[in-house]
This record gives sequence, C-alpha cells and structure tokens, in this order.
Amino acid sequence: MRTMDNILHVGIDDTDSSEGMCTTYISAVVMDELKHCGFQLLGNPRLIRLNPFAPFKTRGNGAISFNLILKSGKEAEKAKKLILNHVENLSHLQHENTNPGVVFHDGLITPELKAFSMKTVQQIVTIKDAQKLAVQVGAQFHEFKNGRGVIGALAAIGYPLKDKTYELLAYRIPENYGKKRRIDYKSVLEMNQKTYPQTFDNLDEDENYIAIEPHTPCPILYGIRGETPEIVMEAHAIIKTCETIERIVVYVTNQHTDHHLIKIDNISQMDKCKSYIAQGIVKDSPNTIEGGHVIFTLKDDSGSIDCAAYEPTKGFRDLVKELKEGDFLKVYGGIGDKGSLNLEKIHVLELAKVYETQNPICKCGKRMKSARKNKGYKCINCGFKLRYGIKDLIEVKRNIKKGFYEVPPSARRHLSKPLIRG
Ligand SMILES: [Zn+2]
Repeated sequence: MRTMDNILHVGIDDTDSSEGMCTTYISAVVMDELKHCGFQLLGNPRLIRLNPFAPFKTRGNGAISFNLILKSGKEAEKAKKLILNHVENLSHLQHENTNPGVVFHDGLITPELKAFSMKTVQQIVTIKDAQKLAVQVGAQFHEFKNGRGVIGALAAIGYPLKDKTYELLAYRIPENYGKKRRIDYKSVLEMNQKTYPQTFDNLDEDENYIAIEPHTPCPILYGIRGETPEIVMEAHAIIKTCETIERIVVYVTNQHTDHHLIKIDNISQMDKCKSYIAQGIVKDSPNTIEGGHVIFTLKDDSGSIDCAAYEPTKGFRDLVKELKEGDFLKVYGGIGDKGSLNLEKIHVLELAKVYETQNPICKCGKRMKSARKNKGYKCINCGFKLRYGIKDLIEVKRNIKKGFYEVPPSARRHLSKPLIRG
C-alpha cells in the first residue's frame, strides 16, 4: 500500500498578468515535462478559484495544485528543480502585480490547512498567514518577488473538494497568442445540444455568445465545463477549430459550486470583499442608473444593502426591474469596492401584493373622471356627480413569479453555481 510519504503536493499561483500567460498553462507545461521525464501524476490536477473580491487577485483568481508520485528523495529534488525553473522562466515576472508562489508539501492535508483553503475562497488572507501555516504544516514554499502566490499555491493544495466540477482547457500554440480565436460556432452548438446539461455554461444561446472562449490574450483557446472528466472529453471531441491545439488538460475544480458564498442571518453582517447568501425585503422599486445598471435596496431588521444587476448581466436586469417594494427575497452575490452586492442569483420567496387606485365606476357602468380638486367625481357619459366617492383599489398583476433567477452564462462568475446544477 502506498503511504502518504511518497506523494508530493505541488501548488502554483500568481504567474500571469493582464497582458497574458496563465497559471493553468504553466502548470500544464510543467506536468507534461514531468511526465516526459518519467514522473507519474496522481489524479486530475486541481484548479481552485479563490475569493473573487480579494483586493489583490490574479485575472481569474485561480490557483493550481497537482499530486506527484515519488519513489525517492533524489527524485523529489529533481522534480522540484524542474518545477521552479519553469515557473521562473514562464511567469510574467516583469509585471508589477505578478508575484508567483510555489509550495511543495509531502505531509498530510491537516484540518488547519483545509480551513485556511476555505478561508482564501471566502475571506481575505495575508501572505504572512500563508507563510506561517506553511511552516506549521511543514510545507516548503518558494516566493518570487513579494511571493503573494504562496497564498493560492497553499490553498490549492489544501482545498477540500466536496462538490466539484471539471474543466477541460485546450491551449494554443504560442504564435497564435493575442490573435483572434478560430472556433467553429456550429460545432459549439452541436456540442451543447449533445452534452448539455452534463456540460454547462459553454454557450449562451440567448446572447449568441460562445462562453468557452476567453477574451484575454492568454494561452487558452477554450475551456469546456462539465460534471465529469469523461463528458468534457466527449464535448472536446465535437469542437472544431481552425487552429492548432498545443495540449489539453482536464482540471477538477471548485468552479460552479457556490463555495465562495457565506450564509448569514442579518444583512448587517455583510462586509466588503466577501460574498453572501442573505434574505430580506425589497425596500423600494429598482431603478436603472447610467450605464444600464439596475439597483434596489434590500432590508431587514438589522440594516440594508444596495443590490445591483450590472449591465453585463443583460436579460437578468429585466427580471430584477419587476421587483417591487415588499417582495421577500434571498440574494446570492459578492460585495466589491463600491459596497453594493453584485447579484449572481435571486430567489423570490414571496411577492408583495401591488395595488393601483382608479376612479370609482358610475351607476351607468363607465369609469368616472376626477372633478376639480376636492370636488369628487363626474361622469362624462351620463353627467352623474359623486361628491364623496372613494377610489377603487385594484390589484395589479405581477410580471414575475416566485422562484430562482440567475445571470446568463456570459456574466457568470467562475465560482457561481448555475441553477441547472441543482
Ligand atoms: Zn354615468
């Protein structure tokens, strides 16, 4: 039986910049190189998305870890050297905000390590927190520049993947970086028809949007999201492209699990840079501000929070606009710098009854007109006057039903769980 001693956990993070590169790609190169040198990997590599609202985050805020099977200490030294060389050579070190970190750990994944990993997904942790814990659990860490990547590298190793999904990433050959991606749209439609909902969030038919394609100059040609490694491979076989694929990797990931959301009982517990599930009452009807963003205030006995459906959430905004004062909701989303909650999903629990007032109906059957101020009502049809008539209260039909509503795939955060996943 294999003991834990000959498994080396490797974590890598913060190697990319706004101009390109991608920690998943560096890891893919490293893993292929290790295999080429005769090393054996255990299971799928892990792509762990960290707190999407952390102030210092990488582009997609994803860190990587993988497990290497080692036979001797000599082998371990060889593997570590190879990994560190590649990270140093391929990272965008010239960029101010690129601070790679690599962690090697051959010990147990302790409860403290798991707790730290969960914290990096839901809260804010510091480089010092990560260094301290690495020393405590006996992990080796390597920092480039300020070494912020050590946080994600350690978190990716320790993360307990309870719910999980898979993403197949296909990489471009370097000469195509920055050029328009050439993916056959029809093949994406076909893939979606054949594999949805076992694959999901790969196409947004309403918006005519291929969600598998990134919009950054990174090395990824496309990424296919799904429930199992088999289904993403099957989907990949259907996709046609007019450019060469250099390599593919299937990652197991915490994407689309809602693990970033913290359940709270009171709105007053909310804080910037974190994500929540909370419930409350709509305080006033939503209003549309400049840029097409739709905002409303949600309140409970403890306080209130502005909730926003931003312009990129497209058709979701039309549903949000139908909310009225008094509606009872559960909201899912994160709080950014501006202090408002970016909606990812809403669950309408109760709809308020909405009334409008109308003039009374005359004995002849026609609706009356208002006479001069405080003079009651007058019928234009028969001339009848009503001095002390009162207005009718009429219930208005609501254009929204109880239930869940979510942003389209084009606006979905990596960690956000689509409703189709149940
Ligand atoms: Zn009348």
